[in-house]
Amino acid sequence: MERVDCIVIGAGVVGLAVARVLARTGREVLIVEAEAAIGTGTSSRNSEVIHAGIYYPQGSLKARLCVAGRDALYAFCDSHGVPYRRCGKLIVATDASQLAGLQALQAHGTANGVDDLQRLDGDEVKALEPQLSAVAGLLSPSTGIVDSHALMLALQGDAERAGALLALRAPVQAMEVTDAGLRVDIGGDEPMTLIASAVINCAGHAAPVIAARTRGLPADAVPMRYFAKGSYFSLATATPFRHLVYPLPEPGGLGVHLTLDLGGQARFGPDVQWVESLDYDLDTRRADGFYAAIRRYWPGLPDGVLQPAYTGIRPKISGPGEPAADFRIDGPAQHGIAGLVNLFGIESPGLTAALAIADEVCQHLS
Ligand SMILES: Cc1cc2nc3c(=O)[nH]c(=O)nc-3n(C[C@H](O)[C@H](O)[C@H](O)COP(=O)(O)OP(=O)(O)OC[C@H]3O[C@@H](n4cnc5c(N)ncnc54)[C@H](O)[C@@H]3O)c2cc1C
Repeated sequence: MERVDCIVIGAGVVGLAVARVLARTGREVLIVEAEAAIGTGTSSRNSEVIHAGIYYPQGSLKARLCVAGRDALYAFCDSHGVPYRRCGKLIVATDASQLAGLQALQAHGTANGVDDLQRLDGDEVKALEPQLSAVAGLLSPSTGIVDSHALMLALQGDAERAGALLALRAPVQAMEVTDAGLRVDIGGDEPMTLIASAVINCAGHAAPVIAARTRGLPADAVPMRYFAKGSYFSLATATPFRHLVYPLPEPGGLGVHLTLDLGGQARFGPDVQWVESLDYDLDTRRADGFYAAIRRYWPGLPDGVLQPAYTGIRPKISGPGEPAADFRIDGPAQHGIAGLVNLFGIESPGLTAALAIADEVCQHLS
C-alpha cells in the first residue's frame, strides 16, 4: 500500500491553510477534496468578515485564534495581494435597554485582546453613519472584509509551491488506525487506499462523519453535529453605509447584520434557522423577518429592496438552546491516536482564524 506523510481532508479555507503550513515545514502533503473544486463548502457561504475577536468566551480557542488569525490574515493579504478592506464595524444599541449589553460586549472584547474598541454616543454614531438609529455604538476599527476565494487561491498557491498536491473528486470514505499508520480509503474517480503518518480532518460538516467512520477512534471522541442555516438578502439599491453594521448578538448567531463586499454591494444576514440537513435553498419568505430586524437600526430601509442572495450553514457541534461550543481541535492528547487531528465545529470565526488554526494543528502534530 502506498504511503504519504500527511493527508489533509478537505480543501476549504482551513484545510488549505493547514496544508500550506505543513508543506512549508517540509512535510509531504496530499490534500483530498470530495468536490470538483476548492472552497465550495462553508468557505464560500459566509459573510467574508475579518472579525476582530470581540464576542467569544474569554480563554476559548475561538477568542485566541480569532485575534491571532486576524493579524496573520491581514499580513497574509498584504504579502499575497489578496483583496481586503479594513472598513471597520459599528455594533449598535438601538434603545436604552441595550446599553448594559453594549458595555458588557466592550469589556468582553477588551479582555479578549481587542484593544481598539471605541465607545460612541448616539450623535457620534450618526456622524459616522447618518442613516442609523442608535442610542450608542461600539466602533471596531480592526474589523474588515476579505475576498475569500482569492484568499483560498493564494493559500493553495503557497501550499503547492511548497510541494503539496491537491486531489479533487477524492472523497474520504473511511479510515482505520493501524500499526503502520492511518489507513485512508478514498473513493471518487480514482479510488485508492493510502497509509499516512498524519491525517488532518478538515472536512467541515463532514468531519464528524469521517471521525465516526474511523475504526480505532473511540466513539466518545466524535461529537454530534447540528446545522444552523443562515440566509442572506442583498440590497438592490446603492448602500448608504461605509461600515459594517451589527446589532447586539442573538442566541446562535451575531444578529442580522449588514456586510459589504469588496465591490461595495451591501447584504444582510445571516439569520439563524436550525435545520435537519444540508439544504442550501433560500426561503424567500424569510425576508419579512429581515425587514423587521434591519429597521430596528435602519428605519429608512425602503420596502421591496431586499433580494434573495444565498445561504450558508454553520457546522455546529452544540444544538439549539445549548451554550455555543468552542472550536474543537482534537489531537493525540485528546483521543490518544498518534498523527490524527480532527477539527470539529469550525464555524465563525473560522475564516478569520484559519491561519492561526493551522498553526495550532501543527502543535498537535509536533
Ligand atoms: C452563515 C455563515 C457566516 C459566516 N461568516 C463568517 C465571517 O464573516 N467571518 C469568519 O471568520 N467566519 C465566518 N463563518 C465561518 C467560516 O465560513 C468557516 O469557519 C470556514 O469557512 C470553515 O472552513 P472549513 O475549511 O473548515 O470548512 P469548509 O469550507 O466547509 O470545507 C470543508 C471541505 O471538506 C470537503 N469534504 C467534505 N467531506 C469530505 C470527504 N469525505 N472527503 C474529502 N473532502 C471532504 C468539502 O467539500 C469542503 O470543501 C461563517 C459561517 C457561516 C455558515
